[in-house]
Amino acid sequence: MTTLEVATQRIQPQTGTAFRLKQGSVLRVIDVEGEQVSDLVAFAPDGEEWLSSRPSIDHNGTSAFTKGHTLYSNRSNPMLTIVADTVGRHDFLFAPCSPEMFRKLYGFEGDHPSCFDNLARNLAAFSIAPDRIPTTFNIFMNCELAPSGEIKVLPPLSTAGSYLDLRAEVDLIVGLTACSAEQSNNGRFKPIDYAAFGTIEEYEGWRRSTAIEKA
Ligand SMILES: [Zn+2]
Repeated sequence: MTTLEVATQRIQPQTGTAFRLKQGSVLRVIDVEGEQVSDLVAFAPDGEEWLSSRPSIDHNGTSAFTKGHTLYSNRSNPMLTIVADTVGRHDFLFAPCSPEMFRKLYGFEGDHPSCFDNLARNLAAFSIAPDRIPTTFNIFMNCELAPSGEIKVLPPLSTAGSYLDLRAEVDLIVGLTACSAEQSNNGRFKPIDYAAFGTIEEYEGWRRSTAIEKA
């Protein structure tokens, strides 16, 4: 079998991007060096429907999403399904890091890069306004829920080459970052790679042809 060429794109540390993902395509998000979070948002092409934490938690009965879970829109329609996951720990409770968060939580004065700003800047090209940015699906973010209700942010469990694969259930506009929050990324900012496979058949073929695949 021939190995399918898949173009990997790089998101530089503390930056983001936005792109279209066709229904049936599979998006792979890769932690290049390890311990790096990537915030994801997804919108329908008209910007009126978006990936939403609340129905995703409702319909799956969990806040710990991994392989086999479908993530839903604000209208409870399937948007993305996790088809592979080498880490098994992600967060869908926290908002993207933002200038306000750095100011209020950390007392940070002056400019600080943030996922919110990086998403807003890149989604503007698709006419999606900053106020539309919902709770992000925080890939590789490691949060621990204590019985008291307290949520602790711990270093990600991802290592170099860890990845998460998501199948688009509908046509999407995706926003994706390499997170800028010190605490979420164990104090060091690294890049994130991503690749999109055109169809599920292409994705399955690529998985079969790549001996190192194991998830
Ligand atoms: Zn962030």
